Amino acid sequence: MSALPSTSGKAHAAAGDAYDAVVVGAGFAGMYMLHRLRGLGLSVRVYEQGDGVGGTWYWNRYPGARCDVESMQYSYSFSDELQQQWDWSERYAPQPEILKYANHVADRFDLRRDIQFSTRVERAVFDEGSNLWSVTPSQGDIVTARHVILATGCLSNARMPDIKGLKDFKGEVYHTGHWPHHAVDFTGKRVAVIGTGSSAIQSVPVIAETASRLTVFQRTANFSIPARNAALTSDERESFRSRYPEIRRFAREESRNGIFTEMPDRGALDDGDNERRAKYQSRWERGGLTFMSVYNNLAIDKTANDTAANFVREMIAGIVDDPATAKLLQPDSHPIGTKRICIDSDYYAAFNRPNVTLVDIKSTGIDEILPNAVRTGARDYEIDALVLATGFDAMTGSVAKIDIVGRDGKTLNEKWAEGPRTYLGLMSAGFPNLFVITGPGSPSVLSNMIVSIEQHVDWIADCVGYMRDRGLATIEAERDAEDKWVAHVNEVASGTLYPQANSWYMGANIPGKPRIFMPYIGGVGAYRQICNDVSARGYEGFQMTPLAKEKRAAAS
Ligand code: FAD
Ligand code: NAP
Repeated sequence: MSALPSTSGKAHAAAGDAYDAVVVGAGFAGMYMLHRLRGLGLSVRVYEQGDGVGGTWYWNRYPGARCDVESMQYSYSFSDELQQQWDWSERYAPQPEILKYANHVADRFDLRRDIQFSTRVERAVFDEGSNLWSVTPSQGDIVTARHVILATGCLSNARMPDIKGLKDFKGEVYHTGHWPHHAVDFTGKRVAVIGTGSSAIQSVPVIAETASRLTVFQRTANFSIPARNAALTSDERESFRSRYPEIRRFAREESRNGIFTEMPDRGALDDGDNERRAKYQSRWERGGLTFMSVYNNLAIDKTANDTAANFVREMIAGIVDDPATAKLLQPDSHPIGTKRICIDSDYYAAFNRPNVTLVDIKSTGIDEILPNAVRTGARDYEIDALVLATGFDAMTGSVAKIDIVGRDGKTLNEKWAEGPRTYLGLMSAGFPNLFVITGPGSPSVLSNMIVSIEQHVDWIADCVGYMRDRGLATIEAERDAEDKWVAHVNEVASGTLYPQANSWYMGANIPGKPRIFMPYIGGVGAYRQICNDVSARGYEGFQMTPLAKEKRAAAS
């Protein structure tokens, strides 16, 4: 079955199949990884715990879910035919359409025959004798693989909050990141939403349309910019399509965040008050994530950042009728952009509706969930349904749920106990042939993630092809290279305002999780160049073992 050079021939613990690669996860990362590895003629098995492809877009079916990077850019670029033929209906496609797109890609590239659905990978153990991974799925035999590629997602481990009484609630309970597949109808119901991150900000205006009463429990106010979503005309689609070569090249090679937009040529304090305000106003009217790209120092200079933050606070005050509610909605705990900025459709305006109430739980928290109510401070809010928009154990959560055992019997969880350590966000020393797509230490969640996913997948596929062509058995990050990379990631982060926020980027939303800034802020284009330089220099910072040496070791 394997297309890679054969290994020592040593019998493996179980009698399952042997693959060149096992890929864990069938979101956008796992799907493209499968396509690329198959193109190399390798045998691949993908395991996906859900019963369909799409990852994020399979799980997050809450009302109002849609992308926050424009669809013409939040889409694969690896196939020009695909990007020329797929018609996005709106500037920011809704979740069902993105899921349809994922399914279209699976069909178009005939991916399903190598994906085993409804199957979790529970365990992966590296055998130093054979240099193979032994992978334990939740159903079926243990299999072996030369390479294991974690395409498990940065935001795939939905986090249930630890709130007293939650399990005793008698009404309906939903988590935005684990939304049911059947339609959920809130018509005439009293609904509570806990959380005010991106998921809540998208779902609140939609739930408000049908619920008889909607109560939003806010611990931390977030900055949100209007999406200005609208139907895409065929002219708009055509304009993108004709410029795709330049748009995609720019996003990959020059941008910081994987999005095509004008690059700022100055800092916020280089403009006078009127000019600056006009620029913020223009970006606010345009809508979307590029609001933060208007100046080049918003992420590093607090005074500059304050000008953008104050502008957004002013906009909030202008939209929300009740001054007390407006005040609560104005973020005051972190510089703008240091938590993922939210993109909304009428979020702030939803609080002008008579059936919507904002409850501040910043100082009190939620005391308890009663069988029919949320209790906070001195009040009980009676509800029929509870929506937990409480986020994810981000970046490392899904990896940590797999028992990954590397060299010397050491687990990845032991190694990452004080925070994740990787070289380039791709591999971790002591875990040969184990790759992570958009892992901690790479730009990942700070970017248009499809751009980062494609870059990682291409790099990994090229690396695996390189190994195959040279008869190499293993690739492994060197400790020294990893230490230097971790230090670099931290150094770049500490030169910015990001660490000032208690964000999920820092692991701050999970009690007990080490506070380390996990993504790499150096920018998508610069990071790609670093990765390309590393591979061009013969995978500098990685140790590679030739197959011959492996055979000698096995024989001795
Ligand atoms: P995922 O899509 O998370 O897929 C990972 C898959 O791995 C999941 O299906 C999961 O079930 C599976 N898996 C995990 N562990 C195991 C296991 N042990 N065994 C088997 N299967 C496993 N990013 C953007 O750039 N732009 C956006 O507009 C955007 N919008 C988002 C909206 C929401 C609601 C969320 C939650 C995230 C959003 N993101 C966005 C980030 C988004 O996660 C990425 O853009 C992208 O979809 C990630 O793809 P992925 O394949 O890496 O991971
Ligand atoms: P999130 O940003 O982590 O927000 C979770 C919210 O729940 C926060 O407001 C948090 O408050 C609150 N919370 C958590 N535990 C709580 C508790 N015990 N009591 C009260 N409040 C609690 O999660 P998310 O909204 O799901 O978004 C996660 C990421 O997914 C986003 O940042 C984005 O990258 C992606 N996403 C994108 C989109 C999009 O627009 N396309 C939509 C959804 C998600 P604190 O802030 O005080 O911790």
